[in-house]
Amino acid sequence: MTQIDGLPPLSEVIRAHELSAKKSLGQNFLLDLNLTAKIARQAGDLSDCDVLEVGPGPGGLTRGLLAEGARRVLALEKDPRCLPALAEISDAYPGQLLVIEGDALEINPLEHLNPPIRVAANLPYNVGTELLVRWLTPKDWPPFWQSLTLMFQKEVAERIVAAPGTKKYGRLALLAQWRADARIVMELPPEAFVPAPKVHSAVVHLTALEKPRFEADAAVLSGVVAAAFNQRRKMLRSALKALSPDIEDRLRAAGIPPTERAEQVSLEAFCALAREMARS
Ligand code: SAM
Repeated sequence: MTQIDGLPPLSEVIRAHELSAKKSLGQNFLLDLNLTAKIARQAGDLSDCDVLEVGPGPGGLTRGLLAEGARRVLALEKDPRCLPALAEISDAYPGQLLVIEGDALEINPLEHLNPPIRVAANLPYNVGTELLVRWLTPKDWPPFWQSLTLMFQKEVAERIVAAPGTKKYGRLALLAQWRADARIVMELPPEAFVPAPKVHSAVVHLTALEKPRFEADAAVLSGVVAAAFNQRRKMLRSALKALSPDIEDRLRAAGIPPTERAEQVSLEAFCALAREMARS
């Protein structure tokens, strides 16, 4: 294996710092630095960017990001056992890596970051999905981030990029695709991680659009989509009945047959419906 920096191999780092993987923190580590550099390259040109990394663990992806030329990396890690290993990386890249110990769901990283900002992470599945939804639903758009490069279970990655008419199409696809371009850029087998998880993984790269693809009020769109997919097998006239007494007229005005099911409705049509719902 080629070395991407002068630091010890990750297997040695893990041994030296006794970083046995904790299931409770969703720890499945990437040990191949060529692979982590490849993931870092999917995040785009990092040389002019600050990178927010969530869950650096022993630092495989962190080292990939720095070796690929990130201007600065801010890494948020919940497991204090990882801090000494991460400090060794800070020493090798003076002034370029800041590590904050804590729960990424509770930390506001923005005071430590300067735009343009890219986000990269290999996170436990539940934390990753929750952060993704937060990053996709800020009060103002464009968001603080230019791009998100995130590892997910393959099944979740497929939900993010899903097209209408497929089983995986739902709220996550609509949220992601309304204001971002979303692509699966890599797939990884379980053996890429230590310990190996049960499922395959995939890296999704999302780029923030300057403005939404179609006009709609974010809160109204979100309410309509949530209601539609909460009862995804029902026809929309029933699934959305509670939202408006004249839902059938509003659906027709948006160009959607009232007998349609959520799975068949395009993003453009959902945005048209959100605009109709916003009329008094
Ligand atoms: N990035 C490393 C890699 O690729 O080898 C580690 C990946 S491991 C799947 C997930 C990492 O996220 C672990 O280091 C874990 O301790 C950390 N983590 C889990 N929950 C977290 C949270 N809420 N906030 C910050 N870090 C978290």
